[in-house]
Amino acid sequence: MLIGLTGGIGSGKTTVAGMFKSLGVPVYHSDERAKDLMTTSEDLIPKIKELLGDEAYVDGSLNRQYIAMKVFSDKSYLDRLNEIVHPAVRDDFHKWAGEQTTPYVIQEAAILFENDAYKKFDRMILVTAPKRIRLNRVMHRDQVAEDNILARMNHQWEDAKKIPLADFVIENIELARTASQVKQIHKKLVELTTSKEF
Ligand code: ATP
Repeated sequence: MLIGLTGGIGSGKTTVAGMFKSLGVPVYHSDERAKDLMTTSEDLIPKIKELLGDEAYVDGSLNRQYIAMKVFSDKSYLDRLNEIVHPAVRDDFHKWAGEQTTPYVIQEAAILFENDAYKKFDRMILVTAPKRIRLNRVMHRDQVAEDNILARMNHQWEDAKKIPLADFVIENIELARTASQVKQIHKKLVELTTSKEF
């Protein structure tokens, strides 16, 4: 079974993914894999250079500051970059998922509802937290200005729009409560894989 795990910036997707991992569930981190593919894929590198310029790489590494500046100042760059990178990540995820042997696997990504990618999953988990808390977490974690985070949040849907589309919603405020929600969901998903509903 393929499970999507998503949530707005700072909601705690990676934290929740870590809890599933500690229960033995394989997790595919889309952002991390996307960055790897952008640095290593002989198919992607020329396309990215064509779109953003040679400055997108410095000594073979991604020039993340330059790329962020370009794509968050002009949405059309973000859209076109996603059009290049998303299909490569999708293929890589399916290859990886095929190699796993557990009843279900998780793909963690910041954007799954906004681009319809959620439709390919058997079930969707959404992580939520109030916007103010999310801003504070990310400002603290990344030492970046609020405006910078708000610019990224503007590309994501509000929780209220995503909640009706999710099969499971984890409100991640208190970590102990989050961990117990993760355990419950894990139990349900394992049960589902052996039931007729799936
Ligand atoms: P991004 O979209 O930026 O990748 P994310 O949704 O993956 O973020 P995390 O990286 O898991 O979010 O969490 C953001 C920060 O908030 C991290 O520093 C994490 O340790 C912290 N955090 C997450 N959940 C909680 C919580 N319930 N209580 C306190 N801190 C938390």
